[in-house]
Amino acid sequence: MFSRLAGNSDVKDALRRMMAADRLPGALLFSGPDGVGKRQFALELAKASLCPKAKDFEACDVCPVCQRIPRIEIPTDDDKNKDNFKRVFSSEHPDVGMAHRYKRFILVDAIRHLEAEANFRPYEGEKRFFIVDEADHMNDAAANALLKTLEEPPATSHIILLTAMPGALLPTIRSRCQTLRFAPVAREEIEQYLKASHSHEDARLAARLSRGSIGRAVSLDLEVFRRQREAMLHVLQSAALRGGLANLLRLAEALNDPKQKDEFEAQTEILQMLISDTLHLKMRARAAEVVNEDVADDLMRIAEAVSTARIESWVNEIELLNERLAVNINRKIAADRLFVQMAGA
Ligand SMILES: [Zn+2]
Repeated sequence: MFSRLAGNSDVKDALRRMMAADRLPGALLFSGPDGVGKRQFALELAKASLCPKAKDFEACDVCPVCQRIPRIEIPTDDDKNKDNFKRVFSSEHPDVGMAHRYKRFILVDAIRHLEAEANFRPYEGEKRFFIVDEADHMNDAAANALLKTLEEPPATSHIILLTAMPGALLPTIRSRCQTLRFAPVAREEIEQYLKASHSHEDARLAARLSRGSIGRAVSLDLEVFRRQREAMLHVLQSAALRGGLANLLRLAEALNDPKQKDEFEAQTEILQMLISDTLHLKMRARAAEVVNEDVADDLMRIAEAVSTARIESWVNEIELLNERLAVNINRKIAADRLFVQMAGA
């Protein structure tokens, strides 16, 4: 089962055993960091259970049932109408649905709707599946309504709660669910997974930037990332060279262009990562051990040109910048200061 999903083989094994014994619990809790694939696993579980052509608990992935199950439309931020969120969003398969938060909270009406739906007999298959996305966002009323459903679980329905913060759920809810813990996915597994859709080089880079999250790896725009990294590499190169300050202040200017407002945070994050890689190389890490392995040669030249103390001072300056930005200090002042300090002026 789940041969298409990356990582978390323990979870796959547990689900396979439950299905083999025909003991899939009525209430499951998928707990683990964001982006590790909890939602994909839940949908794949529904597919494996409902696909008429499933073999050894593996959905065929091509039949109309498999095709329809993952199609669940959640309104985007622009057209968020609260009333839409007072019910479970049905997938294109009528036996699969998902409760989703409206702004900060999953509404009690959505959970009541889920309860009503869970008590209906399946329309097409033999089971119904209801996913509660970000279940820790249930407010008290919603949590209590769900608790009622979990106390008397309908025989033909399975409810799967997804959360990155299990501690934020009512203990009484947790105790009624069988918990499966998801771990960050290993870099190699993510790289392997991405090779189906990415070039070898892109798969390798995205896996390195993923921090164990399939979701993050898949949603990265590598073209944008490479452009931003190029600019930040230029910052480091200028800082490392004598007389680079003028260059840096020009870069600070560009960074503060109002049109680039959204990029500021991303760029400083990339700069921080490059500095950290440079420090690791200075401490004799091998190129393969740094995140930005593909520009390790450039970083190595910087590492050779400056002292360890200097790189450490860059680390401190970036941290200071982040602290200042957190209290909303003017970005231009903060960035100018960062670059002046980095240039050692
Ligand atoms: Zn199928």
